Amino acid sequence: MISCHQINKSYGNLQVLKNVSLVIPDKKVICITGPSGAGKSTLLHILGTLDRPDSGEVNINGKQTAKLKDKELAAFRNKHIGFVFQFHHLLPEFTALENVCIPAFIGGLHESLAKEKGKKLLEQLGLTSRMHHRPSELSGGEQQRVSVARALINDPWVVMADEPSGNLDTVRSEELHRIFFDLRDTMGQTFVIVTHNERLAAQADIVFRMQDGILLK
Ligand code: ADP
Repeated sequence: MISCHQINKSYGNLQVLKNVSLVIPDKKVICITGPSGAGKSTLLHILGTLDRPDSGEVNINGKQTAKLKDKELAAFRNKHIGFVFQFHHLLPEFTALENVCIPAFIGGLHESLAKEKGKKLLEQLGLTSRMHHRPSELSGGEQQRVSVARALINDPWVVMADEPSGNLDTVRSEELHRIFFDLRDTMGQTFVIVTHNERLAAQADIVFRMQDGILLK
């Protein structure tokens, strides 16, 4: 379970998050929606420990993340949180399989074990025939599925996704969303997703709406 309590964050004079508190249960798909500039990505980055709040607490499965030093936090993040972004951020010089394995290598998993696991994930996501291709040889939908496999390689407690289908057409978006719900159902995977996609939000277990740095629900 992830919770945050009274999160505040400002950039200069601009208060981007105002006393945001929420609880995210396990094994659910959670969407955060709201207009551009509402503070959704900032909140996701803070929940994902990529950024620290000015005040307030983020607690992830009992761990008070504010107490961790930067290096400890990076290791914690690598082990327990997966990320999917709007633009896949795959490394162009590596194959799909190598990209998927990178977080496992960083976490210290032996290369052969990481590759075995990466292959299984790519197979699960329908990418077996694509695993030795570089990102430039893959379609947008395939690139995003590789990013999902990369997010899952360390068996994270939660996957945080920021507009994951923002760059995909309707059909590819639906395919990607179906993967999130399938992974919730088959693996009990928790997802926290910032999205403008109303169809995705309509299917989510919980929707948090944000406006002007305030959580409406
Ligand atoms: P959303 O994801 O809802 O579109 P963001 O969290 O990206 O909103 O941004 C909220 C506000 O904070 C915006 O006005 C944005 O310009 C500002 N902002 C976000 N990140 C930074 C930053 N690193 N430096 C300065 N301003 C920022």
